[in-house]
Amino acid sequence: MTESGHGSKRRFERTDRQSNTQSILDLLRANGPLTQADISRATSLSRATVNNIVQALRDQGTVEYEWKNRREALVGLSSARGAIISIMVHDMAVQACLFDFAQQTRLDLSSGDLVGISAPESSPAVVLALARRLIDGGAGRGVSVAGVAIAIEGPIEKSTGAIARWAWQRLPHWKGLNLREYFMRHLRLPVLVENDANLAAFAEWTWGVGRRCNHFVHITCGEGIGGGIILNGEIYQGGSGLAGEIGHMVIEEQGTLCFCGSRGCLSGFATERAILAALRDSEKSRNSLSEVVDSARHGDAACQRVLFEAGVHLGKALATVVRVMGPDIIAVGGTLATAGDIMFDGLRSCAEIINLRAIAKSPEFLAAGLIEDAPVLGGIAAMLSKLDLGSNVVEPWMRMPSPGIDQSAI
Ligand SMILES: [Zn+2]
Repeated sequence: MTESGHGSKRRFERTDRQSNTQSILDLLRANGPLTQADISRATSLSRATVNNIVQALRDQGTVEYEWKNRREALVGLSSARGAIISIMVHDMAVQACLFDFAQQTRLDLSSGDLVGISAPESSPAVVLALARRLIDGGAGRGVSVAGVAIAIEGPIEKSTGAIARWAWQRLPHWKGLNLREYFMRHLRLPVLVENDANLAAFAEWTWGVGRRCNHFVHITCGEGIGGGIILNGEIYQGGSGLAGEIGHMVIEEQGTLCFCGSRGCLSGFATERAILAALRDSEKSRNSLSEVVDSARHGDAACQRVLFEAGVHLGKALATVVRVMGPDIIAVGGTLATAGDIMFDGLRSCAEIINLRAIAKSPEFLAAGLIEDAPVLGGIAAMLSKLDLGSNVVEPWMRMPSPGIDQSAI
């Protein structure tokens, strides 16, 4: 065998080991801590190979052991260290949160807290200002920021990295900007930018009711309707980046005209605005969806009825989702999900959902577990995954901004 022959063989072996290492990391990310025996079974790698790779990953600090007993340890991704910033961009405001894993505290700051900034409340300049304040705040506490995740209440086109043209009217200060490139250039840190519904789905898949499920759909129903699809542990963006826009699925050809230009979109039936409009006819108007949910819980028949009907419409759209992609679990989040059985009874009784049982095993329809903060937590989950770090559960401190933090000191 020639020298070059040896060289190419060694190169091949290296590549092989890299791909085995990647398989193990992917498995741990999707399943949480496992024994080496479990890893060996799931990856079809020999126990010796698994042991070898796990030792190397442990030496470099990527994985850690959690001892089950004296003989057997669970191998898991190393706990998050340092801090991560997660930012939620709404059309009228921005919320930024620093998650300090070292000191287990969460600091929140919003566009309303900024003084002396002349930029509009939802703009790239405001996101930069908030991120910089939190980075400085972290440095003041002796912790450095490992990455910044940004969730945007709008669809992001894969080809341009910018917000899709049809959402420019709602987010005028964001149009045409390649978001990830822009923030990486200015912050000089790892940055990920995603649609908020996709990140909410990722949070629910990582820590909520979608955990360890290979084909997961999450839909958020509140002011708007957003859908996120997680396939084999990854956010499914589709070729365009616009996958999962379930809110604009047409369910009634003669329905109301939607801002997207279609008629009869699901958004016209199951959003806060649509539900409040339906109640207006009963002369029992309410000001918000959470008020409607509250009244329904206290026995108001009209409020119960509109929530039930919103569930029926949701069922109609979701039955088509099931036919197209056959997910294992569909979770519903957002304020509408807080109605619980009042809405889910409507969803499950919808004719199209009942009919699914005739063709195949129906997926489970569940209320999401991380309703508040799901996009912000999803940003953390996605950044941990990008950095090959882990966190097995959402700790209580992650859901609670620290009280008594002097924001002027941040
Ligand atoms: Zn529409």
